[in-house]
Amino acid sequence: MSTQTNANSQETSASEEVSSGETLIEVRNLKTYYDTTGLLGGSAVKAVDGVNFEIKKGETLGLVGESGCGKSTLGRTLVRLEQATGGEVLRRGRDITTLSGEELKNWRKNTQMVFQDPESSLNDRMTVGEIIREPLDVHEVGTPDERTQKVRELLSTVGLQEEHYYRYPHQFSGGQRQRIGIARALALEPEFIVLDEPVSALDVSVQAKVLNLLEDLQEEFGLTYLFIAHDLSVVRHICDRVAVMYLGNIMEIGPTEALFDDPANPYTHALLSAIPEPDPTSERNRITLRGTPPSPRDPPAGCPFSTRCPVKIRPEKYRDLDDELWDRISILREVLRERNRVELTLTERVRDFIGGETRLTDIYEVESELFDEITVPQDVSSHIHEAIEYVDQDKPERAQQYLREEFGSVCDTDQPELYTVGDTGRTSFCHRHANEYDEPSDAYSETHDELFADD
Ligand code: ADP
Ligand code: MG
Repeated sequence: MSTQTNANSQETSASEEVSSGETLIEVRNLKTYYDTTGLLGGSAVKAVDGVNFEIKKGETLGLVGESGCGKSTLGRTLVRLEQATGGEVLRRGRDITTLSGEELKNWRKNTQMVFQDPESSLNDRMTVGEIIREPLDVHEVGTPDERTQKVRELLSTVGLQEEHYYRYPHQFSGGQRQRIGIARALALEPEFIVLDEPVSALDVSVQAKVLNLLEDLQEEFGLTYLFIAHDLSVVRHICDRVAVMYLGNIMEIGPTEALFDDPANPYTHALLSAIPEPDPTSERNRITLRGTPPSPRDPPAGCPFSTRCPVKIRPEKYRDLDDELWDRISILREVLRERNRVELTLTERVRDFIGGETRLTDIYEVESELFDEITVPQDVSSHIHEAIEYVDQDKPERAQQYLREEFGSVCDTDQPELYTVGDTGRTSFCHRHANEYDEPSDAYSETHDELFADD
């Protein structure tokens, strides 16, 4: 490809065919950060923080995870609505994160996005025909008459009527508006579409119709989808493979059935266990996760899930410590973490300003709340107390460090590797897959009932 002339290579990035089942897009260590200038006085928001995966031609890859974990940012980066901070997105060996000019225009033609909210994603001042036609005009596809004809065809493709051409979006229902958005995305005959929660805003009865439409269109045009969703039952129904995202990282990725039937990563476990069971008498246990995800401005140094993971690896000397006590130590560490976060952003500045001694809460109260009612061995108790005193002396970071050194493990200090699990090409991002530890699923059965709150 490098021997081709400039004019030729401009065409290749979009038009070179990839056959069904081959890798269409390969994502390597992709990062997208916001507020990187530090103008707001903080550190960057690491919305996508080093993800690796591939998308095969003709497949639907699901992308799931709690709100704010970086799904939309990842999707937007792939279609170049957001500029990557680092890493690569390769199509046929060509990195699209660095394209510009004509090549970028080609990529934008070749990849489209359908947005979550059909209420706000369509311009209400344009007719439906103009909305669908706009990309054709921008890219000067065919003659004006041909464009009009194409729009009529698209209207029928997505199940709308030709006479809808001259109506305005506000005259349509949510489901119909989403059909308009889909028609617009199809106008330039893209090979890849990012669907960002395309049915989340729709009534359940309408959801199924739009999903069926998307499936039909995929078959008819050989489309490749990245399907972003938080509704896991929809994902299970529509996706070939699923990627589970947490705090800017992909924790697990693999074929849908394998991942749903036997999740390998502790975070996938937790996410799946939160799906309501259709059968209320089912025995499946739910895992309740403590607290909230850390801020993407200040993610944990080790595993992203380490601050909340119910099966985090313990240091050797605490392997047999009482589970309840271990849990409370974890809570203390999270309380300090949250407290520092708040202090550093607001309280610290306020306090500097007024020169006062305002403390958020008395840290000794936290200590007695957590540990007074349970049996704590002397050595553990003195470590806890030492940390508490650091907080009292206004050295909160020192306190966190002390607890990390005493009670932390590889989960706190090192990013896991990506481990291959099973024989379906699934990968999981968790230290427990390393040889010297119990697999996550074994750790669950060992750590027993207390982690599982019966519904
Ligand atoms: P999701 O789609 O999974 O809900 P997003 O990709 O929208 O997550 O957001 C990921 C993180 O990036 C969140 O912490 C969000 O607040 C932040 N974020 C998203 N867009 C911007 C932006 N334009 N500027 C700064 N931060 C942003
Ligand atoms: Mg989103």
